[in-house]
Amino acid sequence: MQVENVKKIGNGKPYIAFVGGTHGDELTGIEVVKKMESFLEEKEIVKGTVFLIIANPEAVKQKKRFIDEDLNRVFHLNFSDPEAVKNINWWGGESPNNLKPKKKLNYERKRALDLSEILSMQDFVFDIHSTIQKGKSFVLLFDEKKQKKLAELFKPDFLVSTEKIFGKHRERSKIFTIDRFVSLHGGVGITIETGWKEDVSKVEKVFSSCKEILDFLEVTEPKNRQQSLFDMPSPSDDSEVKLAQKRSITPLVEVYEEKISCTGYFHWSQSWKNLEKIPKGTVIGTDGDRKMVLEKDSFIIFPKVNPTKGGRICLLGA
Ligand SMILES: [Zn+2]
Repeated sequence: MQVENVKKIGNGKPYIAFVGGTHGDELTGIEVVKKMESFLEEKEIVKGTVFLIIANPEAVKQKKRFIDEDLNRVFHLNFSDPEAVKNINWWGGESPNNLKPKKKLNYERKRALDLSEILSMQDFVFDIHSTIQKGKSFVLLFDEKKQKKLAELFKPDFLVSTEKIFGKHRERSKIFTIDRFVSLHGGVGITIETGWKEDVSKVEKVFSSCKEILDFLEVTEPKNRQQSLFDMPSPSDDSEVKLAQKRSITPLVEVYEEKISCTGYFHWSQSWKNLEKIPKGTVIGTDGDRKMVLEKDSFIIFPKVNPTKGGRICLLGA
């Protein structure tokens, strides 16, 4: 099946997809996918197939997050069954107050349906995002065993794991994000958050990580399989090496709580950055007239601007 804004390069397994523009205003992922396209025109693929995907082309064109609905919340479990698609009950969303009980296929739902066939057959999918709030780069994990090693190749500031609170398979609804949709179909789906969406200085770094991923998965032939003797540390450098190795381990933040607004009138006490570390006892905001106090030193993750009643305020990790 030919799908618009999807480029396929190579043949056979493994299938690897790089996805940009799932949210149309997150430029880093879009630029990285474009750079991968030029790169793969020159570079020989020795094994497997690479798919380059601009997930939400209309939103990219309009420089908007989405047209009708968040594309990263509409991948439905029943996509593989055309009869079931007609009868999808689209409201199984994340938060009861955001539910839209329409059966109509809007732009994003149609696009998700078109992409679902390609995404569900992938072995690895790297969905490149940026955050609305300023802050650090991170990779989200929900299945550490499968995802951690690949995630570390992106050299993010943090790895953020939701495995403990949401589990490997989150079955609260039938509608999934791209990473979880891929994982439900047996692949490894990874969401990379490259930092603030207005900051495009990370394009080169993320691009080179994507190339490293292809080397790691042996899709491309790395430049230097053999290490040069001159790169080897001399014996006296031992402590330096250990230090460098230690530094290269990405800190892991474990999400321990999802904060939900009970009132729909939530106000932050200040504008927190994504993945900002906040000390125990801090009042991070008020929900109605109730103060929200941190019970331990915590990282704030995905702080929402105007959470709805019953909707997510943020995640807390430690
Ligand atoms: Zn995004």
